[in-house]
Amino acid sequence: MSSVPAAVPESEALIVGVLALQGDFAEHLALLGALGCGVREVRQPADLAAVDALVLPGGESTTLSLLLASSGLEAPLRRRLAAGMPALGTCAGMILLAREVLGGRPDQTCLGAIDIAVRRNAFGRQRESFECDLEVEGVAGGPVHAVFIRAPVAERLGPGVRPLAFAPVPGGGRRPVVCRQGAVTVAAFHPELTGEDRLHRLLVDDGLTARRAASGGASSGGAGDGEETAAPPQRSLAR
Ligand code: GLN
Repeated sequence: MSSVPAAVPESEALIVGVLALQGDFAEHLALLGALGCGVREVRQPADLAAVDALVLPGGESTTLSLLLASSGLEAPLRRRLAAGMPALGTCAGMILLAREVLGGRPDQTCLGAIDIAVRRNAFGRQRESFECDLEVEGVAGGPVHAVFIRAPVAERLGPGVRPLAFAPVPGGGRRPVVCRQGAVTVAAFHPELTGEDRLHRLLVDDGLTARRAASGGASSGGAGDGEETAAPPQRSLAR
């Protein structure tokens, strides 16, 4: 991808949902509303059915796991993700979207939408929260100011996953903190807390691409149901 689009004229008709069971969903809704797309809080299956793309916010992944089950959202969410619905997961949302969780509760939900193993609380406890500026591959316009709060990192990446940004971890070395596979993007930090909207713009762009593919019979896969479209649309960032 050369850059995230500056303006997305068709976005008014696109509806982006934000999982609104727990955590800082309000900030995501505000950011998306400012981008000009339709927004919807997703609390039950009927909400999910109405959206083209979904943000899974930060919060507490173990609590969100329980609420996904009790709300009846877990099964339809798995189906939508398997069918290629674009998604952006931040912090706890990154943990939920991963294939495997390290340092989690044994029964916590892994939606498996991106082929990574994430380590929870990889930077330590709440008081080890920190901020830094990160270069994120594919995000033009300068570094992203990143707020990390009890954040995870990716420790194992499957072959289809592209790491887009790295951060130094305690004990040395750097680990991926932004990753992408198909139309699923995860970030270990909280862009919504600083008004950073470039990852949300990417999600809107993914939503528009998936919708065009689904309605136009494009060959790139898409958000429709069925075997042939089970793979997420392969965008230029995917490999
Ligand atoms: N450490 C939290 C968890 O496991 C995530 C924190 C956050 O979303 N800021 O789920």
